Amino acid sequence: MKVGYIFVSPQNHFMDLSFNARYPFSKSAREYAENAGLELDFGLVEKGKRRAEDAVLRKRIPSIADSSFDLESEIASYAIARMIVSQIGMGQAIESYAIAEAKRASSYLKSEGDESLKALAKDFGVDSENAIPVLKYLSYSPRESPYKLVNMKLADGKVSVSKGQLIRVLEEAIRLRISGSLPLKIERVPPEIKKAAEDIRSQMPKPEVKIVVSGDRPPCVQHLLEKLARGENLPHAARWTLTIYLLKAGMKEGEIVKLFSTSPDYSESITRYQVGYILKKGYSMPSCRLIDSHGLCVYKCGIRSPLSYRGTKTGR
Ligand code: SF4
Repeated sequence: MKVGYIFVSPQNHFMDLSFNARYPFSKSAREYAENAGLELDFGLVEKGKRRAEDAVLRKRIPSIADSSFDLESEIASYAIARMIVSQIGMGQAIESYAIAEAKRASSYLKSEGDESLKALAKDFGVDSENAIPVLKYLSYSPRESPYKLVNMKLADGKVSVSKGQLIRVLEEAIRLRISGSLPLKIERVPPEIKKAAEDIRSQMPKPEVKIVVSGDRPPCVQHLLEKLARGENLPHAARWTLTIYLLKAGMKEGEIVKLFSTSPDYSESITRYQVGYILKKGYSMPSCRLIDSHGLCVYKCGIRSPLSYRGTKTGR
């Protein structure tokens, strides 16, 4: 079976092998793989499995070895990892994989010269010096507060960015490209790929805290809990809102930390720090209006705070 076709979108410029190995999701890498006609073999499947395992189970894909043989198999391992992650059949695995690939690329970008950075930016249509067309910026900018458009300098339809900001935006663009292109639809999945997927699926952590569906919980909170249970990534404002609500509802700090363990980008130390910080600061519950302004209100309950919710929905 040829592995080249599983890359995303065709393209015209062709970078060197090392660039393609560092950025295997790039259009140039896809073109390379198609021309090289890489074939599946046992060694490549093992390498692809390791890549998928590192991303899904350990949340980090190590850097590559610097020999031409390894560089070529590196590109193939990306394609194989995508097949394996698709076969795992869980949104959480896809998200974790996309995040780990994007973070790895971002760490390379931080030490890149201008040429590679420009080439990758061009690949995503972010083609100008220190300024990103506003529509592209809105598509790719992280949901963190410093990246909100109101906090950026906008002129002539372009958003000015530093090198560090450009890299962060590209990291998000890479994550979106990879997660948006998965799962792959493959007609005949090779048995080695199915087995690798099954191995990884069996090692994935199960939620340690059982999420109980309750009609007494505000719909917005219930919605966020269900997303967590499905292994979806919650934006910062959602994590913040949920943590404050659960603390106010009497849940212990450690239980809340475990609750977030299904997040694709979960880090126990960071989550523990953030939950502890919210607890220490004693933040009050955000109002329904504020929650709505973050796009997290899912039902007009006719109340001012989720803490007043008593299980009666009073209409939209
Ligand atoms: S009205 Fe308030 S409690 Fe109800 S879903 Fe919206 S934010 Fe949550």
